[in-house]
Amino acid sequence: MQDISLEVLEKYYGYKSFRKGQEDIIKNILSKEDILAIMPTGGGKSLCYQIPALILDGLTIVISPLISLMKDQVDNIRSMGIEAAYINSSLSTSEFNEAINNLKNNKYKIVYVAPERLESYDFIMEMSRCSISQIAIDEAHCVSQWGHDFRVSYRKIKSFIDILKERPIITAFTATATEEVKRDIISLLGLKNPKVYVTGFDRENLFINIVKGSNKKDYVIKYIEANKDASGIVYAATRKEVDKLYEVLCEKKYKVSKYHAGLRDDIRKENQEDFINDKVNIMIATNAFGMGIDKPNIRYVIHFNMPQNIESYYQEIGRAGRDGGKSECILLFSPGDIQTQKFLIESSSENLNRKQSQYLKLKQMTDFIYNNDCYRKYILNYFGESNLENCNNCSNCLNEGEVVDKTIDAQKVLSCVYRMKKNFGISMIVDVLRGSKNIRLVNLGFNNLSTYGIMKDYKGEELKSFINTLIAHGYLDYIEGTYPVVSLNKKSIEIIKGEHKVLFKENNINTIENVDNKLLELLKDLRREIALEERVPPYIIFGDVTLKEMSSKMPLIKENMRLISGVGEIKFNKYGERFINLIKSYIEENNIIVNHIIEDNEENSYIDIKVDEELLELLKNRREEISRKEGMYPPKVISLRSLKEISGRYPKNLDELMDITLVGKKKVEIIGKDIIIIVNDYINNKDIKVNFIKKEKRKIALDGDVRTDEEITIDELKKERFQKNYQIN
Ligand code: ADP
Ligand code: MG
Ligand code: ZN
Repeated sequence: MQDISLEVLEKYYGYKSFRKGQEDIIKNILSKEDILAIMPTGGGKSLCYQIPALILDGLTIVISPLISLMKDQVDNIRSMGIEAAYINSSLSTSEFNEAINNLKNNKYKIVYVAPERLESYDFIMEMSRCSISQIAIDEAHCVSQWGHDFRVSYRKIKSFIDILKERPIITAFTATATEEVKRDIISLLGLKNPKVYVTGFDRENLFINIVKGSNKKDYVIKYIEANKDASGIVYAATRKEVDKLYEVLCEKKYKVSKYHAGLRDDIRKENQEDFINDKVNIMIATNAFGMGIDKPNIRYVIHFNMPQNIESYYQEIGRAGRDGGKSECILLFSPGDIQTQKFLIESSSENLNRKQSQYLKLKQMTDFIYNNDCYRKYILNYFGESNLENCNNCSNCLNEGEVVDKTIDAQKVLSCVYRMKKNFGISMIVDVLRGSKNIRLVNLGFNNLSTYGIMKDYKGEELKSFINTLIAHGYLDYIEGTYPVVSLNKKSIEIIKGEHKVLFKENNINTIENVDNKLLELLKDLRREIALEERVPPYIIFGDVTLKEMSSKMPLIKENMRLISGVGEIKFNKYGERFINLIKSYIEENNIIVNHIIEDNEENSYIDIKVDEELLELLKNRREEISRKEGMYPPKVISLRSLKEISGRYPKNLDELMDITLVGKKKVEIIGKDIIIIVNDYINNKDIKVNFIKKEKRKIALDGDVRTDEEITIDELKKERFQKNYQIN
């Protein structure tokens, strides 16, 4: 049973192994048990009901709340050669009738249905005549009022199930795990003794980076400059902020689009599609953006402002790295963000109770930012996970960036605040420290303070940002109001007295993607071309992770292409040839040598090496010289077999040389450096580039010779000895 599902995974999806939880969940569905699976966004829920759908007899109905996602999922399944359809309000009458007809004729294995359809008597009567093996309920939290997006129609699911003559397996999937929601899902969907799976909320591939008190705009510009071609979302709290950022980035000629509730529907839709189809790679948006976005290759999510609560934050950063590739989530915090969020809560039309709970969540969000321990631990704890260790993949754990001692500057600011006696806003403090001639300042007599003008060497913006950083670290209090002001606290006094040092980290800008890869660009171009032909988003053809692997392994034959994660059988048949041809012409044009991997089965995997006779001759000559000089028997210096392997694998450094069969430290000491020089000279002269493949557990086949290493060595030794004897005689 396990083997069938693994086979299906390999054949259709092209993935080589299951992710956490998937295998168990599938196994249980196949043994006809109801399940509730709680997995994080991007955890791979779809596959958990799709694979059983393909294996079980009969039809799987998937209830899914978002029209755009339905189309996406169905495109995806169809691209793997599986008959599937969706039925929702976006279909015309004739399309609808066609779908129903196909359903009756058992043409589909999987049908996605909007929950609203279940309100139509005719429709459920049609459906109830099909032989249904599984009803999968995606985003199952929509059935609960406690979830964040309750959908009335989800309540119809149970009565639909109840009218079916034969009860199918009911499977429910969500990323929300609060107790109330869990209970609601089980009872309101009528799950029978369900197995409940919670795979955990962690998204290991997301780097959580909280940046306090930097100049946000500069940060974003620098970040985007360093990650020009990566796909990313920048979330800002208000429409105005989105518009401003959008203009700035447009001016710099980045490929950017924007999304917020103030834009016309059709424009919003177009912008979203440009992003999904990789026409632009940066989306500036309010939190209105993201529902129904399954784009897998989002490499970063930047929060220009702090979100209102941890749920939203985690959901929004969850949109990064669905493909499992490394991604970065940056939150640019300034104390003013708290005020913006309070304003948004205050001006909403929610009732008092709701508002109070929103304030509480805002406080938890702020505590999260100020906490000095692992950020991921904090979030996972918040979602109810315990016994956690530091993640070493967040900015608190890693403590990246150079630490600079800002104690003296901090003392200057704090003692200025102290001398001003009453509480003032940040700009007044900046003016005093920079020695401005502002009339109000002079009237208040601040030009006579000993701190007047003592920070002239700071630019205004810079000093403001520094003060914000002090606040963000809790070294100064920020008091909100119509005119927000700052005031000293206990920590400030400690710093003034010199009892506490102020150490700040310089912000590092990370580069998440190595863009210097010409072949990857070409592969992406080809993908875009095919996507246009087939009118689907590029990632439906192949994901970024798949293309990246292609660009480094450069597969030239079917067997090697099929080893790439994401290249299933059907996809290979559809696109394999075109990608192989592209890689072929690329390596020909660039004179790159790639060795094939030949895989008979798991134990029998070879790298096929063509011996380069010309290089082998040079290597043998060198061996001869060393053997004469050192008075060593040539095979002792290095075996002929190793030399042949070297001649076809072209190791360019000691690390690669150590990957050659029978080459160890000793041999490297005797002849290693010479070999490296000879190989490098040779490939430079011939202008050859080499894509070195590590051996790992594979064997080496020389010119198609697949004897084991030992056999070959023994044979070679025999042969050499024989030749030697022959020559002597
Ligand atoms: P969820 O619905 O849980 O948010 P999806 O089902 O959309 O997540 O899956 C997220 C991404 O992970 C998709 O691109 C999917 O193809 C990929 N994926 C799922 N399972 C695997 C796997 N076993 N190996 C590699 N990629 C996978
Ligand atoms: Mg999903
Ligand atoms: Zn951490």
